[in-house]
Amino acid sequence: MSSTVQRAAGDSGDSGDLAIETRGLTKRFGERAAIDGVDLRVPRGCAFGFLGPNGAGKTTMIRTLLGLTHASAGTMHVLGHPVPLERGQALQRVGAIVEEPRFHMHLSGRENLRIVAAARGPETRERIDPALARVGLSDRASEKVKKYSMGMRQRLGVARCLLADPLLLILDEPTNGLDPGGIQEFREMVRAMVEQEGRTVFISSHLLDEVEKTCDAAAIVDRGKVVTQGAMADLAAGGTVRHELILGVDDAERALETLKGSELVLEARPSDEGLRVILAGGPQTAAQLNAVLVGAGIGVMRLEPVRHSLEARFLEITSRLDAHVEPREVSA
Ligand code: ATP
Repeated sequence: MSSTVQRAAGDSGDSGDLAIETRGLTKRFGERAAIDGVDLRVPRGCAFGFLGPNGAGKTTMIRTLLGLTHASAGTMHVLGHPVPLERGQALQRVGAIVEEPRFHMHLSGRENLRIVAAARGPETRERIDPALARVGLSDRASEKVKKYSMGMRQRLGVARCLLADPLLLILDEPTNGLDPGGIQEFREMVRAMVEQEGRTVFISSHLLDEVEKTCDAAAIVDRGKVVTQGAMADLAAGGTVRHELILGVDDAERALETLKGSELVLEARPSDEGLRVILAGGPQTAAQLNAVLVGAGIGVMRLEPVRHSLEARFLEITSRLDAHVEPREVSA
């Protein structure tokens, strides 16, 4: 996977290093904010997943980035250009599929691309065959599009984007409706565009597994807000949303009683591995918790942070945002 991500995903960077950068980006429809103060940083040269449940604001984000709808507040840069001020320059090297790609169904895949190329410069025509090869449609390019499967149409859509030799591809839910074989082909195509051609591919998706397998970095979005973002490995390692410990103690009953009265703990319960404790504060709270237990004469043999899988984090984040107020309680 791309090393660029490791370098760029964490820092604030300047927008020249980033394919997409937004600050405080907000889009309201009446009272409702479909995007709500989003600071997004998409490093160049990676596959980036924009991951969130239905209605999270993914399509609105993409439409705003492309200037198809106006932002209500905030700023954005695409390939280093401020949008909407320099929208034309920004989008020159951007290819996007926002809805299911539409084609002339009675024409072949290649003929469809020729029509697009005719409206552009001669160099675009020369890109038709490499683009068809990149998306794996060379053998089927002479067939009418109406005979294409959904996956083939999606890939032809990408080939059409490639005619502009884009630095950045923006694909809205590209694997919707594809069967497992189609999803696999799509994934390989994205990886090749990133690794062999150095393009940036921004993919919105509600499928965690898909983003995990395809992308180098991601942002998790819910109700218009980016909850967390960064390199995939960092997201999977977790630790920024909820700090959870497994405790091994010599007297579990007394330990639970002690924790019940502690401000340091949101929840504590017995589990197969020992006591599972959700801390009220950051990781440093673990040391305080240890001191409290030892002070109460309880021996602590094990104190281990729980590593969350990205799946657990995704579920945790979306369900956490559902709960308006977390009651502070300790259950045994
Ligand atoms: P899905 O995966 O279901 O397409 P999404 O993450 O792409 O979801 P959006 O389509 O961006 O989400 O919608 C985000 C929110 O904004 C939703 O509550 C939606 O109802 C609202 N919304 C989107 N477009 C409009 C519009 N044109 N007018 C009013 N509300 C809108």
